[in-house]
Amino acid sequence: MSGKEIKVNVQASGRHVHLCQSDLDILFGEGYILEKKKPLGGDFLSTSKVEVIGKDGKSCLCSILGPCRNISQVEFSITEARAIGLNPPLGDSGKNENYAPVTLKGPKGTVYLEQGIFVAKRHVHLCWNHAQALGVTEGDSLDLRIDSERPTVFKDVKVRIIPKEAPVHDSDVHLDYDEYNASEAFRSGIGYVTKGE
Ligand SMILES: [Zn+2]
Repeated sequence: MSGKEIKVNVQASGRHVHLCQSDLDILFGEGYILEKKKPLGGDFLSTSKVEVIGKDGKSCLCSILGPCRNISQVEFSITEARAIGLNPPLGDSGKNENYAPVTLKGPKGTVYLEQGIFVAKRHVHLCWNHAQALGVTEGDSLDLRIDSERPTVFKDVKVRIIPKEAPVHDSDVHLDYDEYNASEAFRSGIGYVTKGE
């Protein structure tokens, strides 16, 4: 263990889909608008769900986050993906590099995404002051320690820096439910990040 340790919030992201407007139009009909159910950071959880088609006739319903993005993508945990017969690669959100193909089905149509589904890398949204204190920049990796009855250290937690001007003084780690449940992070919702070895 080297140097400074920073206390952070630990939160879980459930499986979700981001859509571009043209795919939303195909799935739900021309000019369809996502309705807000609740805010989620800069995004929002919509009231709409889409069917994600896996293998051997398996599929599941999945929440759609708004607002629409430039490209459609599907983020699952490994357990969520395996439940419908898929085994997508790890990836960074928003990049659409080497994602696995997947089909979405809505009430009005279906969309095939050649680069569609991936498992999001664990990451931390570090506030500016915490980033300065740790001496890290965008894309660096940190260790995350969870103190629980099943104490866990997560390596390679990707750093995303919150801009200096944002009125944020907390840092939030985003895990998927496999990681969140395995480490029992849900009991305290707290972890500690360090630069690691
Ligand atoms: Zn995040």
